[in-house]
Amino acid sequence: MAQIRLSEREVEHLRDDFSGTVITPDDQAYDEARKVWNGDIDRSPRVIAFCANTKDVQTALAFGRRSGLQIAVRSGGHSLAGHSVVDDGLVIDLRRLNQVSVDPEARRAVVGGGAIWSEVDGATVPHGLAVTGGHVTHTGVAALVLGGGVGHLMRGFGLSSDNLISAELVTADGQLREASASKNDDLFWAIRGGGGNFGIATRLEFQLHPIGETVFGGLLFYAPEQGPDLMRVYNQFAKSTPDEVTTILAYLAAPPAPFVPEQYHFKPGYAVVVVSPDQEVAENAVKPLRDFGPLFEMLAPMPYPFVQSLFDESLAPGTKVYWKSHYFAEYSDDVIAAIHANTAKMPAGPSQMINLQMGGAVARVPDDATAFAGRSAGFLGMFSGIWEEADERDAAVAWSKGFADSLAPLSLGGTYPNLAGEESEERLIASYGREKYARLARIKTKYDPDNVFRLNQNIVPAH
Ligand SMILES: Cc1cc2nc3c(=O)[nH]c(=O)nc-3n(C[C@H](O)[C@H](O)[C@H](O)COP(=O)(O)OP(=O)(O)OC[C@H]3O[C@@H](n4cnc5c(N)ncnc54)[C@H](O)[C@@H]3O)c2cc1C
Repeated sequence: MAQIRLSEREVEHLRDDFSGTVITPDDQAYDEARKVWNGDIDRSPRVIAFCANTKDVQTALAFGRRSGLQIAVRSGGHSLAGHSVVDDGLVIDLRRLNQVSVDPEARRAVVGGGAIWSEVDGATVPHGLAVTGGHVTHTGVAALVLGGGVGHLMRGFGLSSDNLISAELVTADGQLREASASKNDDLFWAIRGGGGNFGIATRLEFQLHPIGETVFGGLLFYAPEQGPDLMRVYNQFAKSTPDEVTTILAYLAAPPAPFVPEQYHFKPGYAVVVVSPDQEVAENAVKPLRDFGPLFEMLAPMPYPFVQSLFDESLAPGTKVYWKSHYFAEYSDDVIAAIHANTAKMPAGPSQMINLQMGGAVARVPDDATAFAGRSAGFLGMFSGIWEEADERDAAVAWSKGFADSLAPLSLGGTYPNLAGEESEERLIASYGREKYARLARIKTKYDPDNVFRLNQNIVPAH
């Protein structure tokens, strides 16, 4: 791609019109400012615009369009493929738009487009309220919701996006538009699953749910050799789990946490993570998993923000990761055998398989009600090759790729774009299904015909 000429004067003009901060490679803060969550991504934008308000977002977007720079939009910076930072382009950063206000009577929250989940939970939980959030508290809210939003509370309360009442977006033409059931309903349909393709979300309004002072949660941890039988037990469990209970089946190294007996520190094994707002229902439900004989367990009532942060440290900002994912119907014998063969090959260290149990309230929303695809899946399987030192990279990437490739023929053929790496258009079409993808492409053509917002899981305008 030809280098875009950009004069110092043009950048100065942007600074003049801007309430936030504009950073360029000459600034001391530049190296810190260009970092994103995935430590494997190292890109050097020409301009990073830290917006202070919605007008700044419009100003930065107009600057980007005028100058011809490629535009990346960043909130929490957790795009696995690094879509929120771009070499030689413009990063529009919303992180400072992180205000959260709660109306406890109406059980509603209004959230800034740059907020992260710890800020939402921090505002709602003191009122005994919550909305389904991501599994890690430092991920951004807007991009997660626009892609769908899977989390610990989803089988009871639905996806994060199922709880979205309205959103305000700066669309590619610079207009501020509201999307809700009564305003721009096509846009509202598209942004509940179609990702950041349709505009920059500056404000989101959510329906909240009562959560109580604590939720029942934690994990049961099993030896690697228990895997195949555990997955057979888990498959039956998953078919009858009450909606109040959401679980994850994982394969990972046990952390050196106080609740882990010392002999298991850093040892790999299978884990089932359980979260439920209803202790009695959850204790009954997990009986077969307890009876199966974990090496150890830590299940107890705990504050919801604590459960939310269980994965925070193992997936801290700067983690170097290569990530693949597929949707599956269930743990069939073939799936179990393939999973077990691949977990056995996991490189020592922080790599992990995380399988999210779907269903419950997610599956009860009609498939065509929103753009999100995956409501009929039994689980979402993710194979994350993670490394610390550069010479461990190849093995971690090869493990993740090999795992995903060997399970692909047993999968439903698509994935959840938010929890995928760099994907081809064919794979995105397979993920949404042809009909849904075509509808998304028509809406993209209406709101972003020039594909200004293309650094994402990109839906190509239908020209
Ligand atoms: C450690 C980790 C845990 C995760 N856990 C979950 C989970 O539990 N559930 C889940 O559903 N997903 C999860 N994800 C995936 C996550 O939803 C996506 O990575 C999401 O894009 C993160 O949002 P962000 O603001 O942090 O990302 P960013 O990297 O800032 O943005 C990602 C993409 O969204 C676009 N975007 C960013 N902000 C906006 C905005 N305000 N308006 C419009 N578009 C925008 C960008 O253009 C970019 O393409 C996880 C990812 C990671 C790395």
